[in-house]
Amino acid sequence: MEARARACANIALAKYWGKADVKRNLPAVPSISMTLDQLVTETKVRFDPALDADTVRLDGRRASTEEAARVSTMLDRIRREAKLRHFARVSSHNHFPTAAGLASSASGFAALAAAASAAAGLRHSPRRLSALARASSASAARSIYGGFVELPAGRKGMGDLAARPIAPPTHWNLRLIVAQTIPGQKKVGSTEGMERSRRTSPFYDSWLDRAPKWCRTIKRAIKQRDLDALGEAMEQSTLAFHCCAITSNPPIFYWAPETLVALETVRGLRERGISAWATMDAGPHVKTLCDASDAARVRQALDRTAGVTRTWVTKPGPEVEVHR
Ligand code: ADP
Repeated sequence: MEARARACANIALAKYWGKADVKRNLPAVPSISMTLDQLVTETKVRFDPALDADTVRLDGRRASTEEAARVSTMLDRIRREAKLRHFARVSSHNHFPTAAGLASSASGFAALAAAASAAAGLRHSPRRLSALARASSASAARSIYGGFVELPAGRKGMGDLAARPIAPPTHWNLRLIVAQTIPGQKKVGSTEGMERSRRTSPFYDSWLDRAPKWCRTIKRAIKQRDLDALGEAMEQSTLAFHCCAITSNPPIFYWAPETLVALETVRGLRERGISAWATMDAGPHVKTLCDASDAARVRQALDRTAGVTRTWVTKPGPEVEVHR
């Protein structure tokens, strides 16, 4: 009745923004990601007949009511499927900042899906685990797999949707340099931000229209290991989704002044002939993709950038791991 799992966060190369179905948590656009070996969550789940409620600890503290409720929603799904009535003791640790735009929800719900279903005695395939993780956090569906992963768009009312692997971690020796700018939790959660963009941004329909094209370009670029083609489409996809956020009403600025300074650093590196490309998620941090051979120079340039407080160098990471 006990299991542990370890999952890595991922970075969307083709961005996900907008839901086709909020209740079923189905994305409105396809997305592609790279799993990141350095951004790790470890989760332990134990179903215990002595408990009269789920208990959830996150990063060594008691989870907030909202955090615990998201965990219990997934546990309820697993309990129904396993025909299990016991509550669970969950303890999870993110080895990087939580809820700060570094995708803790992706690794968090991937690790929880894997640990909880194993603890309940379910022997889920990776595809089934991915669909389970996706119901709690769409980006978590991608963190079940290692390397390069795609999550197709959903349609309102559809049943199951899971991510699928495109290429293993060994396919391409890329590095992603994560540059943390201002610390702290994001002000507008992704779900709320996506809904606000859908309802109010005049550019949302264009985003839905164009996102699949960037996705196709990025998939092709991954297969051909063409970093310039990947980087260009990734930056376009990033800026288009932020354009939707910024033009929502009220507007959502995930960027800080430091974000723009770091973007300038990346542009400067390109002017000096380094193929380095930036992306940002629903937070102020800048994540730069480059070849492994350029990683030290890119990191050094970002470490020297005003407002960058910390950097991580990550590479294509492994699939979720479970220990019973
Ligand atoms: P992020 O950019 O870190 O993904 P979000 O606001 O999208 O930020 O998601 C953060 C939320 O995900 C947390 O508030 C919590 O509810 C959930 N979460 C994060 N890490 C874990 C974890 N290890 N286990 C369970 N839930 C988690």
